[in-house]
Amino acid sequence: PVDSKALIAKAEAIAREFEYTAEDVRKGVKEFLREMDLGLQNDGQPMTMIPTYVTSVPNGTEKGVYLAVDLGGTNFRVCSVSLKGNSTFTLTQAKAAIPKEMMTSDSHTLFSFLAQQVKAFVEEHHADHFEEFPDHHLQLGFTFSFPVDQRAVNKGYLIRWTKGFDIKDAIGKDVCELLQKEIDALGLPVTVAALVNDTVGTLMARSYTSPGKTGTLLGAIFGTGTNGAYVEKLSKITKMTKPGANIGEYDKSTGEMVVNTEWGSFDNELRVLPNTPYDQELDKMSVNPGIQMFEKRISGMFLGEILRNSLLALKDSAGLFAKADIAADAFLHTPWSVDTSALSFIEADNSEDLARTKQVLEAQLHVPAADISIEEARAVKILAHAIGRRSARLSAVPIAAIIIATGKVQPPPQPRPVAAKTDEELEVIDIGVDGSVVEHYPGFEKLLREALREVEELGEKNEKRIRMGVAKDGSGVGAALIAQVAAKMK
Ligand code: ADP
Repeated sequence: PVDSKALIAKAEAIAREFEYTAEDVRKGVKEFLREMDLGLQNDGQPMTMIPTYVTSVPNGTEKGVYLAVDLGGTNFRVCSVSLKGNSTFTLTQAKAAIPKEMMTSDSHTLFSFLAQQVKAFVEEHHADHFEEFPDHHLQLGFTFSFPVDQRAVNKGYLIRWTKGFDIKDAIGKDVCELLQKEIDALGLPVTVAALVNDTVGTLMARSYTSPGKTGTLLGAIFGTGTNGAYVEKLSKITKMTKPGANIGEYDKSTGEMVVNTEWGSFDNELRVLPNTPYDQELDKMSVNPGIQMFEKRISGMFLGEILRNSLLALKDSAGLFAKADIAADAFLHTPWSVDTSALSFIEADNSEDLARTKQVLEAQLHVPAADISIEEARAVKILAHAIGRRSARLSAVPIAAIIIATGKVQPPPQPRPVAAKTDEELEVIDIGVDGSVVEHYPGFEKLLREALREVEELGEKNEKRIRMGVAKDGSGVGAALIAQVAAKMK
């Protein structure tokens, strides 16, 4: 028989391995600041810090109808966004599954399919536009979530495919041009005006819809993966300004540019990130060992697997799921069998009997709920909570670092003492977020804010100034806004 006291004690011991202390947060921020600087100064750094050629963020007064398309993973979305000029918008959307065989075809096959979806969409929803203004082109923002070498707001060369795509002849080509060519072949009055990364879209969408007129500083995604984009001073992006830099044309008048950090690869060298046996096991089983090490401790694609690894340890050391049969055991031994949504459901279960937790374990691991003791459910909850909590605290690291790096902390460091501003005088620091983990994991923002307060430069005073909100329809609205900015620049 399983000793339930020992089981809980062992679960608590494993949970302690996931502790990410205030000291760890501060060390993380320091290292993040160092890697940000490296990436701003040089190409080929672990944190890529990609200049996006977007040189301003919206203030809510933008107007007009724009198209947006999104090629992410399994679906291609087409939408039109009508910006009302008062921080509101309406959005019409269509979605098409990408036929599997097209993901490994040639660029003409894929991009002509995409162009046809755009055609079907405009014919259904914007037929009047065609008739009234055959010569007036609709401007389109193209969200393309694959690594590109961006050289202008509407020019980006594909570096490599990910997520199951493999179309060799597209590598090294400008993906905007590939799409434009096929749109032109169909005779559509549509111009591909901007190439958009989803983090930049989140930043732009939040800045447009955000209450008050403080521009948004940062857009951050905590979904399948994690990444962020923020507004940086041009003078700090020295890899663009140094002599001989190979870069495109852009509007220098604002003195700023949005930078896509690609922070998922922060600290791939594991200088400061925690590295439990459960993290190591996950990395070993992943398709890209040693890469995206920050993302692997934070995002939706991975948290379920970290939980599975720690459950296995609890089973081996303290007899978790003593009544589970061979089939359930096989599930527990199957990599990636636990979805991150399980952590959210378990965290939300505050019932006496933990019935929901047992249900989730039955659904995901095929351990019959009736065979799970209350202590076993409690032990699982201890682990799930520790992993979710660590993810939220780690997520504070880039946010704190970016607030510090952009000089938003008050009082600012000064050679001479200055009078500190009162709380009322301090500006809001606005952050747009998106993704299932931040949206659905209970208390994610609260845990993240606790960690922010522990960073000395921020403290409670600055943490309170941060306003965080989900950028609704971020991908579509963001792409539309970038198309708007791009069209205006021409
Ligand atoms: P994407 O990032 O691909 O645009 P999402 O933001 O919906 O999409 O993130 C999907 C990821 O979030 C998946 O890895 C999934 O396991 C995870 N996920 C789905 N539901 C939840 C939930 N309720 N709580 C936490 N994570 C979730």
